[in-house]
Amino acid sequence: MPSLHIDETNVRSVLVPQNPPGEPITEYTLNPYSGCGMGCAYCYVMKFPFAYEYPKAWGEWVQPKMNAPFLLGKARAKIYGRKIFMGSATDPYQYIERKYRLSRRCLKVLVDCNLKALTVHTRSHLILDDLDLLTQFGSRLRVGFSVPTNDDRVRKRTEPKAPKIGVRLKAMKQLRETGIHVTASLAPVLYCQPREFAQQIAEAADGVYFGKMDYTDRTGIASMPKARRYFNSLTYRELITELKAELINVGMLKSEK
Ligand code: SF4
Repeated sequence: MPSLHIDETNVRSVLVPQNPPGEPITEYTLNPYSGCGMGCAYCYVMKFPFAYEYPKAWGEWVQPKMNAPFLLGKARAKIYGRKIFMGSATDPYQYIERKYRLSRRCLKVLVDCNLKALTVHTRSHLILDDLDLLTQFGSRLRVGFSVPTNDDRVRKRTEPKAPKIGVRLKAMKQLRETGIHVTASLAPVLYCQPREFAQQIAEAADGVYFGKMDYTDRTGIASMPKARRYFNSLTYRELITELKAELINVGMLKSEK
């Protein structure tokens, strides 16, 4: 596996304003890193211009935004009482967070901003390092935990540098034990064992976000012919239907009828 190229950088801005229609779940996105050491094969961020134009392959480089906590501190007045989403284009708890602690330092700023809502999205148990800060947000915090499969063989093929599924499920339970609201993000759903998976999600999460793989040509999946065929197959559509039914059975999704 290629080593990770770390390219420390200073940025001009660390907050990206969002203007979705209706009641927004976020008003600003915040990414303490650019690039991502997890390198998931289906990551749509790899086709964003900044990533596509970077001279190394997706998953092989990360730019820690060294001045992110400083810039966030300067933007305190702007984000006071607002909604923030951390981790929309990187994993804020990828392994180099242990070295740089940029996500932690950003959280330290956010704690004083009286946010209306904070969403932190990850697939890493390193989020537990920051429990002391995360718990200070109380019910205003939502953690989105990405668990696209319960099958570690699939995880090894599609996101080999990400934590094992069992480690994620355990971390989700630990977050919930401290009162933190955890949403399991099954998006995109990968091959899994639907009944067992739905049960595991019910034990580890308060809610679920569910989405199928429908962009096989725009990510690393394009160079995985077998996987690509699978995601375009009837078998995959049947899996989605079965998983949805199992999630309804365990009370994690509402029936559409
Ligand atoms: S962890 Fe998220 S941002 Fe990082 S490669 Fe995977 S999907 Fe992309």
